[in-house]
Amino acid sequence: MRNEPWLLKPQKTKEILQRYGIRMQKKFGQNFLIDAHVPEKIVAAADITGTDFVIEIGPGIGTLTQYLCQAAGSVATVEIDRHLLPVLEETLADWDNVEVISGDVMKLDLAALIEAKTAELAAALQAGAGGITGEPAEAGAAEPAVSDAGASSVSVKVVANLPYYITTPILMKLLEEELPIDSITVMIQKEVADRMQAAPGTAAYGALSLAVQYYAEPKLSAIVPPNCFVPRPNVESAVIHLARRAPAERIQVQDSGKMFAIIKAAFAQRRKTLVNALRNAADLRKEDGTSYSREEAEQALTACGFPLTIRGEALGLQEFAKLSDIL
Ligand code: SAM
Repeated sequence: MRNEPWLLKPQKTKEILQRYGIRMQKKFGQNFLIDAHVPEKIVAAADITGTDFVIEIGPGIGTLTQYLCQAAGSVATVEIDRHLLPVLEETLADWDNVEVISGDVMKLDLAALIEAKTAELAAALQAGAGGITGEPAEAGAAEPAVSDAGASSVSVKVVANLPYYITTPILMKLLEEELPIDSITVMIQKEVADRMQAAPGTAAYGALSLAVQYYAEPKLSAIVPPNCFVPRPNVESAVIHLARRAPAERIQVQDSGKMFAIIKAAFAQRRKTLVNALRNAADLRKEDGTSYSREEAEQALTACGFPLTIRGEALGLQEFAKLSDIL
């Protein structure tokens, strides 16, 4: 039988926090989960199985981590706050498929971690090592369900209750570094989740919507009220699932860097028309290093079939790609 998560049993979290004298640190965005339904929903939304390598960012005292260890083939969890390391040693002691990495996820070489851990899990699955899935490895035990799995069948999933002060930089690192990640399932502020899946013409639509939707398909999985955390955050939270698009599945554009410079310019001053945004954009230059003139911006919009008075907030990803290619 797989080990059961126990930190959310009555009084357990309180007892651990008291015994270790843990004070939640605001500077690290520490809001710990105290409601068992939430990790269950997160694990279900991430669709975790025994052939998954899961990266968690910010285990805290290990609450969600216990659920991840129970469901995944292997887990690596990255925690910046060194005070929590002895706690994690105790709360994760029942699982042998987890590694706690002490440090800042923004500085971690995730590509190297993924390469090493997926190879390790694939080898263990191929060898039929039941222990790596959380099952006790018994001599002569029945063949594990995953015994014939190879390296290609290991999926990489990121699952986290993210520190809210650094949500967007973490997600953009995960998406832009072209890591072999299949999906990202994270708890974030509901307002940020709304922006990620917003459509053109809505108030929440902006550069973040376009960046996320270029790299992934976002889906809101659950809304989580403040009373599911200690301390209670001031805002509602949401679980969002981002299914990563492989490069061939993305909107095709000649130069994605240029497209994102156009998007940044278009939303830097959202009330400006696109023509004005394009000619005043600091990061947008022609090949000769000069900025676009009004005439050039107008010609590009006309060639795309857009009215000259259009604002960036009216354009979807496909239209920004077209404009970028023409410019
Ligand atoms: N997973 C726990 C839970 O759900 O109860 C804690 C979530 S708490 C919102 C965020 C966690 O991320 C904290 O443990 C915090 O110390 C950690 N953290 C903050 N910044 C980090 C960073 N740059 N790298 C790694 N961990 C970080």
